[in-house]
Amino acid sequence: MSAVDLQRIPLAQPDLGGRELEYVTECLQTGWISSIGRFIGQFEMDFSRLAGTAHAVATNNGTTALHLALAALGVGPGDEVIVPTVTYVATANAVVYCGATPVLVDVQPGTMNIEPERLREAITERTKGVISVHLYGIPADVSTIGEICAEHDLFHVEDAAESHGATVGGKPVGSFGDAAIFSFFGNKIVTTGEGGVVTSNSDELTDRLRLLRGQGMDPSRRYWFPVVGYNYRMTNIQAAIGVAQLERFDEMIAVRRSLAARYRSSLAELSDHVEVVDAPAGSESVPWLQNVFIREGDAARRDSIMTGLASEGVDSRPVFYPMHVLPAFLSDHPFPVADDWSARGISLPLHTALSLDDVDRVCATLADIVTAR
Ligand SMILES: *Cc1c(COP(=O)(O)O)cnc(C)c1O
Repeated sequence: MSAVDLQRIPLAQPDLGGRELEYVTECLQTGWISSIGRFIGQFEMDFSRLAGTAHAVATNNGTTALHLALAALGVGPGDEVIVPTVTYVATANAVVYCGATPVLVDVQPGTMNIEPERLREAITERTKGVISVHLYGIPADVSTIGEICAEHDLFHVEDAAESHGATVGGKPVGSFGDAAIFSFFGNKIVTTGEGGVVTSNSDELTDRLRLLRGQGMDPSRRYWFPVVGYNYRMTNIQAAIGVAQLERFDEMIAVRRSLAARYRSSLAELSDHVEVVDAPAGSESVPWLQNVFIREGDAARRDSIMTGLASEGVDSRPVFYPMHVLPAFLSDHPFPVADDWSARGISLPLHTALSLDDVDRVCATLADIVTAR
């Protein structure tokens, strides 16, 4: 069969097969299309249950959720916030939005999550807090990070944008830090089109998050703005999609897990060529995209493998470039683990519309390419 006969396998695709249409239609028919309406409170309640937190504050995307969390924690000019160098750029950008400096640290081999020992070394008298990222569905070492933060009186924000439903010691990510954020972009595990949320157990911080999310308006005095806030509100339409998504959360995760298991067994046969990374002991990851790391070769070989996959109709993408190679965050500090792992990583398709046959096709295509001489 030639490539043109094959259906393209996309990297990610939203699953809108539940009551999304019904709930969105309700918004349109009732006129509640802006940021007031029954779905917003419902979504926040449903999501706080999933994250195991007392509160959830919905926002218009994950990046604004990060900015809002940092702003509510009082991050400002002169402060340093420690972030892993391997992440999606929003993590570092949000620190810059506050006028603060993101301090990059190297990551752990495999998981590409922040290395607690490097984090410790990066602490200065200006350090205000740490953003740990649960990258690609794999939990960061939140207990060690939490201990370091407590020792040095730093805040801990979890960036769980890619890890809805992952757990550490049976407890959901998003419930460990002073606050955590999740994203509901179209390719994430739960989507609202664009959307985000800040979760927290603190009543006081939650009040501050709500104040700043709504332009800083005094909750007991309309059109009185005691502070400079933002408009980072989620719409009722977004929340309507989110409520429908969460109704099917367990079902969608079960599909993701079965696809990930199929990837594991197929990729095991390629273990001389590619490596798959497990969640650390004591934690359970959640399948977002399926990452593989080529054992030999560099970013150029990785890119040529992705070109080969594309020519057979299989979408893929490189794992994130580390922040320290991007123009805005350039650093000549050494980040050997990040450099090594990010150059060898490929994200393969994983979403609920895939069949086990699709996974077999992705793996067979990859096998042809990596075993060719
Ligand atoms: C997606 C993502 C974000 C930002 O979310 P948006 O909803 O796209 O703004 C932040 N951090 C990480 C790690 C992400 O993957």
